[in-house]
Amino acid sequence: MSTAYISHPDCHRHDTGDGHPESARRLSAIEDQFISSGLSDFIRYFDAPEVTQAQLLTVHTVEHLANMEASMPQQGYARLDPDTVVSPGTMKAAKRAAGAVVLAVDLLMNGEMNNAFCGVRPPGHHAESDRALGFCVYNNIAVGVAHALEAHGLNKVAIVDFDVHQGNGTEDIIIGNDKVMYCSIFQHPFFPFTPPPENSERVISIPLEATAKSAEFRAAVNDHWLPALERFEPEMIFISAGFDAHRDDDMSYVSLTDADFKWITEQIVRMAELSASGRIVSVLEGGYELQSLARCVETHMRVLMGLS
Ligand SMILES: [Zn+2]
Repeated sequence: MSTAYISHPDCHRHDTGDGHPESARRLSAIEDQFISSGLSDFIRYFDAPEVTQAQLLTVHTVEHLANMEASMPQQGYARLDPDTVVSPGTMKAAKRAAGAVVLAVDLLMNGEMNNAFCGVRPPGHHAESDRALGFCVYNNIAVGVAHALEAHGLNKVAIVDFDVHQGNGTEDIIIGNDKVMYCSIFQHPFFPFTPPPENSERVISIPLEATAKSAEFRAAVNDHWLPALERFEPEMIFISAGFDAHRDDDMSYVSLTDADFKWITEQIVRMAELSASGRIVSVLEGGYELQSLARCVETHMRVLMGLS
């Protein structure tokens, strides 16, 4: 399997200030882990391009793009909301983050790579069509999905989102689009405190109690996500890969282990092999405890690479 890692030095230059959990140290931890484990020898590294205005406009409003450009400070920091800190490097990082997902789609569709992981920040799944939220500026994965549908003519794609927070932004953008299935699982009630969407053939949303562990997580995926994905037969699967449900990550109460993240990746790979010729575009969302994040991303990559 040839697996791409797509990122850019600009994604490290999105400075959120001292003590902010969504820091550049997250990407450094992941990239260092690839090197120290020896996995880097088997990864194909790509620099993320900047997303174009036209690509952003497939999922965001003109007003949102103008607001974001106007909100970026020349120096120091600004806040888009109490959690979402931006600085002079943020705009480039945000454009590379969304551009990474677009490149991933192109690499898979032209047959150059089998699957891809986008190691990017700021993350994206809380960004709605017209607002930034929860560390997110643009909805990176939604931009990639729109590119797969509109530029490559795919008719059925699935997003699976195992970040511990509800992907309100992805829901806002995707729900109602019959070509997209959205499977999510998240602690509830919890940030962003939006009501879970009504489930349907295309929307499989699983709220978990704060006390949930491996058994509840795996049962929900087995009983709800996997049968729905098998029926839908997506032509490409996107992963909103958040690792903040890990028991070592104090961003949430849900307590998953390294083995659970390996298992969920294996299930998604199996689903992608059934209907999508193995095509998976995985995109980093949350995950704030650096050691568990680095280990779990390494394992996630190993499964994508067929090495585990
Ligand atoms: Zn999260």
